[in-house]
Amino acid sequence: FFDKFFFIDETTRDAVLFHHSPENAPTEKAKRIALLVQIADWLSSSERIEKEKEEVTSPTNEPLISIFSNITKIKESVKWSSKSLYYYPLKNLSFKLGEDAVLLPASAKKSVMSGYNLTPDYDYLWEAFIRELEHLSKKKLALELLLQLLEKYLWAVPQAAYLHLPDISLYDHLKTTCAIAACLQQMDLSFEELQELKQALLAKKKTKKPLFLLVKGDISGIQNFIFTIISKFALKTLKGRSLFIEFLTETVARTILREVGLPITNILYCGGGNFYLLLPVNASEKLETLRKEIAINIFNQLGVSLYFAIDWIELSTTDFMPDNISKKWSEVSEKVNQKKLSQYSELDLKENYSAFFEPFEEGGDKKNCAVCHVEITRKEELKKWEENDVCLLCDSFSKMVQSMCTAKKVYLSEGKLTDRIKEKVIKEYDGILESLGTRISFEPSETRKGEQAYFLPEKGLPKIPYRVVPRGIPFNKKEQRINDLDILAKNAEGDEKIAVLKMDIDSLGSIFRFGLGKQSTISRISTLSGMISRFFGGYLNELISQTPHYRENCYTIFAGGDDTLIIGSWNVIFDLAYTIYEDFRRFSCTNPHITLSAGIVVINKKYPIIRAAIEAEEALAKAKSNTKEKNSINIFGESFRWDLYPKRKAPEIISYLKNSKNLKTLNEYAIICYVKELLVDMIEKGCPKSIIHKVAKSVRGLTALTKNASKGIVDIPKVWRFRYYLRDYFKDKSKFKEHACCLESIYNYIIEKNFFSEEKDDAFKPSCILVAARWAELLTRKK
Ligand SMILES: [Zn+2]
Repeated sequence: FFDKFFFIDETTRDAVLFHHSPENAPTEKAKRIALLVQIADWLSSSERIEKEKEEVTSPTNEPLISIFSNITKIKESVKWSSKSLYYYPLKNLSFKLGEDAVLLPASAKKSVMSGYNLTPDYDYLWEAFIRELEHLSKKKLALELLLQLLEKYLWAVPQAAYLHLPDISLYDHLKTTCAIAACLQQMDLSFEELQELKQALLAKKKTKKPLFLLVKGDISGIQNFIFTIISKFALKTLKGRSLFIEFLTETVARTILREVGLPITNILYCGGGNFYLLLPVNASEKLETLRKEIAINIFNQLGVSLYFAIDWIELSTTDFMPDNISKKWSEVSEKVNQKKLSQYSELDLKENYSAFFEPFEEGGDKKNCAVCHVEITRKEELKKWEENDVCLLCDSFSKMVQSMCTAKKVYLSEGKLTDRIKEKVIKEYDGILESLGTRISFEPSETRKGEQAYFLPEKGLPKIPYRVVPRGIPFNKKEQRINDLDILAKNAEGDEKIAVLKMDIDSLGSIFRFGLGKQSTISRISTLSGMISRFFGGYLNELISQTPHYRENCYTIFAGGDDTLIIGSWNVIFDLAYTIYEDFRRFSCTNPHITLSAGIVVINKKYPIIRAAIEAEEALAKAKSNTKEKNSINIFGESFRWDLYPKRKAPEIISYLKNSKNLKTLNEYAIICYVKELLVDMIEKGCPKSIIHKVAKSVRGLTALTKNASKGIVDIPKVWRFRYYLRDYFKDKSKFKEHACCLESIYNYIIEKNFFSEEKDDAFKPSCILVAARWAELLTRKK
């Protein structure tokens, strides 16, 4: 098998074969490498030490358990422990939706297995794996392709069916093992030194001797870089700039590894403007130089708008032991945050005095870029500016987005980090990436040798080699153009408005730091971060691009890391926000410790997008401060707790709520949606629109009353105004009596929870009726 597909030498092959018993390897060389792999294997999943032969349950009936099944202790107020485990089907990785969605685990073991036996699933997977391997290995198989192949077929294979939970993906275990082994190999440790290391691990001796570096890179200034542009051209440039941030992060991560001589397995995580790398401790000097060169490079080309903070901490083998690694994970983040406070401290000010303090912009007749407002001073830029008023960089972003719309592939080529301290040239985005060592572009480079083309996933299927790029652009294929804000507003239901949605995972830092508890190992952290990127990078993009309703009316500014910013027709955005929430909760096993919050702002199409994006960010912050548990959505300026609820149309809502016991199943967000549905249904059936104002009026003042109620004052007559305002609808001849009664029961339920319930914590805000009324009003506005 090895000889057929992998062009590796005998030593490597023996080392792999004997890594569970290095002493039996046939040659000295193979013994050393086998031992090295064994140590790496142990450090990767440190609970493995001494448990080599303890695989007690049979792998054929243990599917991979979702790592989110077991995360607890994130929210103090939440008393929850996983009652049931969640399993992934043993299928190849895809970003398919609905019934075929492999990323959304199921709680019944049987439903993800062919019966209770995984053998047929394994056989099928193995055949598919070999078929794709045969197809790929016509040429020498590059490590990156092999990694993708392993991810595609092993992502849902448990690393081992041990005594405890098989929740580590074999792919992630292999990847982190490889990363550790690559570092050990670079340390050039002798067989004896490795033996010593092994004995220390077996004896559980604490060691302080640093062997590795945990490196974190984090870009600061992203918000300003993306949003300080002029609105007229906003959408395309926003998208271009945010994609550039993604590419820049990856470029820098790859360049560091290449310069240090490590494989890409040593990227532990990369996305959303930051990365984590594992390096050997002897790389620190080189890293210092690289950090400086990268800083100079970025500074020269982009000025102070972006800063790539890079810092690291040392790791000993003890730091890989359960629980310790997550401490280190947050420790390096802390250190990078400190670094961000002293931006550009790595540049020697004296040496680069002129670069820093020379004015970038010369006086005289000012010519500015119409998009980012930078002053045009260079000859090479002047020509472009005279053509279309923009600078070279903005022009390149707009071209990037245009070519992305129809691209089937993305191209990556590796070069060398070039020192451009003396020539301050602002160039196109791909030129900037190229000068940082790795060019990523939707256009092939004619001059770059060794360029690799990656497929963009189509219909949720990653075809190797692939690259997930958050495209999400409402592109009109027929007319070959991007739907702009005017069209998105026109496509909206009811009022012609736009909405901006910002959402992210609640308390992500704590999830990484405390979520895995005593179980945290580097391969578990890798599984956790890998799953999150598969959801936000892969699944979310497919959700938007495969649903026509979303694809045509939503504009994904960014989706990666753990957060997302999307602009679109307002009603579609409302719908999308809940759909993402729903799928995310399924993805995270409806574990109440792992939730999402969202902020939505609704704007006129002429309103500056940049300002709206900032307001959406603020709305998200308000949502997160709504309750201790976060898990909230802020709409029309008000925050509410949200939770899963079954979507229903008006007639179903009416019949469901006729049984007053069912009121107890409602959550705050469900109330908003149900009241909205009822109101819209009434208006569609001919009820005067004044109903909306009547309902809204009946709630006004309730918020103040509930505040009084918490002090023990209840003003009963004011409370029962609902029936008064809606009296016409309660008459027997009214066509809307059922609607009115249903609304009243919801109204009374809110009052009951606010005034008479023992548990004030789960009271519903009366303003949820106001917000529902506002929602219904926008939906029913005539064009
Ligand atoms: Zn510009």
